[in-house]
Amino acid sequence: MQKLILTLKHLFQESAVAPNAKARVEGIVSQVRSAMEVAVCSLYLVNERGLLTLVATEGLNPASVGKIQLPIGRGLVGRIAETKHPLNVLSASADPHFVYFPDSGEEIYEAFLGAPVVHAGELVGVLVVEQKERRKFTEEEESFLVTVAAQLGSTAPTEFQTETEAGAQAGATSGSLTRRVRGIAGAPGVGIGNALLLSDTMDLMTVSDAPTNDVEGEIGLFRDAVQATLQEFAESQKKIAESVSSDVADIFTIYEMLLQGPDLTSTAETHIKSGKNAATALRIAVSHYSSRFEEMEDEYFQARGEDIRNLGNRVYARLRNITPPTIKEGEKVVLVGGLVSISDIAEFPVEQLAGIVSRDGSSLSHTAVVAKALGLPAVMGVGHVGEIPQGEVVIVDGYQGQIFLRPAQSVLDEFRRLIFNESSLARELSKLKEFPAETTDGHRVQLFANTGLLADITPGLTHGAEGIGLYRTEIPFIVHGSFPSEDEQVAVYRSVLEAYAKMPVYMRTLDVGGDKPLPYFPFQEENPALGWRGVRFTLDNSVIFMTQIRAMLRAAAGHPNLNIILPMIGSVHEMEAFSELLNSALEQLSEEGFPVCRPRVGIMAEVPASIAILHFLSGKIDFVSIGSNDLTQYLLAVDRNNSRVANLFDHIHPAVLQAVEEILIRSRAIGVPVSVCGEMAADPCAALLLLGLGIENLSMSAFSIPRIKWLIRSVSREEAREQLALAKQCPHPEEIREQVSDFLVSKGLSRLFEPAQGPVETKVS
Ligand code: PEP
Ligand code: MG
Repeated sequence: MQKLILTLKHLFQESAVAPNAKARVEGIVSQVRSAMEVAVCSLYLVNERGLLTLVATEGLNPASVGKIQLPIGRGLVGRIAETKHPLNVLSASADPHFVYFPDSGEEIYEAFLGAPVVHAGELVGVLVVEQKERRKFTEEEESFLVTVAAQLGSTAPTEFQTETEAGAQAGATSGSLTRRVRGIAGAPGVGIGNALLLSDTMDLMTVSDAPTNDVEGEIGLFRDAVQATLQEFAESQKKIAESVSSDVADIFTIYEMLLQGPDLTSTAETHIKSGKNAATALRIAVSHYSSRFEEMEDEYFQARGEDIRNLGNRVYARLRNITPPTIKEGEKVVLVGGLVSISDIAEFPVEQLAGIVSRDGSSLSHTAVVAKALGLPAVMGVGHVGEIPQGEVVIVDGYQGQIFLRPAQSVLDEFRRLIFNESSLARELSKLKEFPAETTDGHRVQLFANTGLLADITPGLTHGAEGIGLYRTEIPFIVHGSFPSEDEQVAVYRSVLEAYAKMPVYMRTLDVGGDKPLPYFPFQEENPALGWRGVRFTLDNSVIFMTQIRAMLRAAAGHPNLNIILPMIGSVHEMEAFSELLNSALEQLSEEGFPVCRPRVGIMAEVPASIAILHFLSGKIDFVSIGSNDLTQYLLAVDRNNSRVANLFDHIHPAVLQAVEEILIRSRAIGVPVSVCGEMAADPCAALLLLGLGIENLSMSAFSIPRIKWLIRSVSREEAREQLALAKQCPHPEEIREQVSDFLVSKGLSRLFEPAQGPVETKVS
């Protein structure tokens, strides 16, 4: 047993470093077989058609992998799946459920033990061990297998499933089947295009050691390559500043600083002087500095390691005189690479890009930030996807974080239908731009846009936003290389206020911490969601806070549309401390001669404690904005970023609806208006209930505005109230959702529910 416990400890550590999902499950199966000293260990996973499929085995005929398939309920394996209960059988052949598969080699095994693999309450597979002699497995053995199966279930088994299935299918039919590869959702949307492979031709890390006798010549080549790369960055920066925004283009400044800084280049030159050629020296320097970042625990810094490697590839390409590939006019391409970079994106006209697929990288990568701003679907971290021929059709599903290679006609048709539906609905709804968001019985709702990048500004206006309901100032802070100066902030805030002149702009003070770490101000916390974030962070760092408040006030000179929102307010003290800072900023600036005036100030209602203190804030605040994302997270005690509990996160949970109602009642009592700026506002079912609750301001991503306007214009306030009354009778969020969506469908709004989820799986977020 001791051996089993030790195995358990190492099993998943080892499997975590396997190069792909197939190797991972094969490793687990092999280790379980040797630890339990049994003849066979096999793993079956439920495929997309609901069949239990053998995906890995040690002991059975390897040719059976992918071929043995059985429905839930059939055979011993099917029985375990059906009952979700382990089965320990003395003699498999004597069991009435036994099913024999010819050529599997299973007929000689008698003792059989199997355990279900369950993920988020759903059965996803069955893990089995077998032995020749008739015997019952011991309790320890059973509990070991159950534990391994439980661990398997908790570690993203669908990734094992889809990748191993893909492998099995590809092996069995030599490439005629659609292959789905999972990654991380980097930027939402769906795109289809021809693969344009980028970095494979210039992967610096594949360079092998080579000496030089011509040190001077190699240093010259190296310096020329660095200069050419800097030149390329300057051009890319210009292009991206025109097509995206200057704050995103600032990311190139980080690249330039890295390249011009002494560390990287002087390390490379030192290696050239020691007799290595330029490419080898560059590889050594880049690998040294990138691994220093990649070893850090903080995800943001790991992502900066990515930047350095990307930089290395760029210089290497120049050393080899490789210029980026070109595309035909009118061709839609999906950029595929080890590390697709912002400069890669900037190389191509945005209208020809269908999506981005990056082997490495995360949703925090700058690439993902830029993709979102450009409305390009992106899937990051797909790992080693194997050979993708240049020009092959790729589907990028940025909603689900998956790509499809060699898509079958039916899959392609389905995604084309999805893209068509999305764009045709968007086209039809664009006609509503000039119309107000008014219910059929004349109640007016104001629809605002949520933004964070300057690149979001135009979509907001073109989709008919009546103002900015939430400007997340942390985004310009995050894409910047260091704390932006007061003047830099003034320029950004002023352009937002100017773009929406005569419309209200609700600008939120810095909300970093939690899941939004500030790159250049790292800190570790046990429980970041409950830690140093939002106004707690800024009040403790009052110099940073003061700079931001001053910048907002200066930007608002001549633009009286500024409203300041404070994130994460949970106590009256915090509000009072902010008021003091605001007073002193106003005083300082008037003494310095700036023409400032006091903006309206309000709070995000997102920490549940804020609800109870609303009446104490009377006279201290001018409005309340409900941050339903955090409010739901804190009310339901469900981490908004944890996929394991994502199915529990629902902003139409009775607790959230009640809290929203309470906020409305208490805010009315102190005479301040309320808006909702979390994701709840863009969810059709929730939006209807909010309408029933009497909300008159909703703020959401620009692309959701036309849909919610369509909804509002299709129903009466009275109907919304009736739906709310029904919802209040119901304890289960999923039933509330069903009831409200049935109602919306009955009003002809079924297309509101169609596209965004993608055709393959339902996303829970
Ligand atoms: C929210 O919490 O609902 C909100 C709008 O803020 P964020 O998502 O930026 O935390
Ligand atoms: Mg929030």
